[in-house]
Amino acid sequence: MRSLLIRNADVIVTMDSARREIAHGGIFIEGNRIVAVGSGDELPTNADEVLDLSGHIVVPGLINTHHHMFQSLTRVVPASQNEELFGWLTNLFPIWAKLTPEMIFVSTQTAMAELLLSGCTTSSDHLYIYPNGCRLDDSIEAASEIGLRFHASRGSMSIGESRGGLPPDRLVEDEAAILKDTQRLIETYHDAGRFSMLRIVAAPCSPYTVSEDLMRESAHLARSYGVSLHTHLAESVKDVDYSRERFNLTPAEYAEKLGWVGRDVWHAHCVHIDEPGIHLFARTGTGIAHCPCSNMRLASGIAPVRQMICAGVPVGIGVDGSASSDSGDILAETRQAMLLQRVGFGPRAMSAREALELATVGGARVLNRDDIGALAPGMAADLVAFNLNRIEYAGALHDPVSALVFCAPARVDYSIVNGRVLVRDRQITSIDLGPLVERHNRLARTLVTAQPVS
Ligand SMILES: [Zn+2]
Repeated sequence: MRSLLIRNADVIVTMDSARREIAHGGIFIEGNRIVAVGSGDELPTNADEVLDLSGHIVVPGLINTHHHMFQSLTRVVPASQNEELFGWLTNLFPIWAKLTPEMIFVSTQTAMAELLLSGCTTSSDHLYIYPNGCRLDDSIEAASEIGLRFHASRGSMSIGESRGGLPPDRLVEDEAAILKDTQRLIETYHDAGRFSMLRIVAAPCSPYTVSEDLMRESAHLARSYGVSLHTHLAESVKDVDYSRERFNLTPAEYAEKLGWVGRDVWHAHCVHIDEPGIHLFARTGTGIAHCPCSNMRLASGIAPVRQMICAGVPVGIGVDGSASSDSGDILAETRQAMLLQRVGFGPRAMSAREALELATVGGARVLNRDDIGALAPGMAADLVAFNLNRIEYAGALHDPVSALVFCAPARVDYSIVNGRVLVRDRQITSIDLGPLVERHNRLARTLVTAQPVS
């Protein structure tokens, strides 16, 4: 089995149970697994490959718990720049109706490349729109080429405008077909094993785009196969109003009624979750993906993350779709999580180390995994390194761990995913970024300027 030795790192942030930070540390990896973490004299001296990371900080690969990668094609669309959630969606739906399988593939690769360069080694994606023959398989193929650890969520929309939902009727799918395709994807791709590179998630889009029946049936299907469940919940005030008016329930009550609580469930946003909802989620181990940039961009509000953490709710960081955060930078999102909690709840509401915890062990808990998010023997070999001698960190080296979150987010210098070096000297090794960006921009232009589908 191929071995890899990392040595001389200035500091290794383990996020292990003791939250050790090891000065002048190293990591010994065999295949896709960490064998040893410690100071230089505790590790083997040789390996098939040796990486000297003096001057670098090493942290567990960051985990992104919410994204819509296809939206990378529709950043900064003028008609949706200054809207709240529902208006923003309504303006974008006609554009997304023109998506093609090639666009899904290319935008997924672009989004993953951006995530990778920002420190992400595991990402979920929520694809809920399937026009013109698009399939989740297109995203899965993109992920396997690039090498990111992937939780692919089979999203869906089934209630169109004519039945009181938000999306245009032509964009919704038949519920039986949604369930059948979800089952096909689970049977074809889902790997439940340790160090799995690909898991399927059942993920109806949101209370205002699907029926209660689809939520319930998706939960049954997911649990019969042991896969996780994901959706949007309590994102904006209008979202909560919709839940009260249509179901006479708060979003948390709605989730509970339909069986959408438990360690195998995570909800995006929960900006407007009430206190009973927080306690319900804490009691049941239901996870939350916190997406601060998108919440600020759409003026959705400030999620009570401090309160969630104190109550014991599993919380991870999500960059959310690129049409509402206009970036897919997990380290930048981690920084915003820390800053936004302070705006809402004071300077002690979140420390840099707590923010980093959400992006690592927090994300792992949300995705219901115990093999990623920390650097310790027996864990997956997913880690990233940042060169501390860069201008971003000049003058901040009295506390390099906090500097990573407080200072302007830098690109990773090295990224190792499942034991493979996917970023070396700031360059992605698995794909050629220049042609990818060019192709992405060509497709984005086609998508946004083409005549809307009538
Ligand atoms: Zn979202």
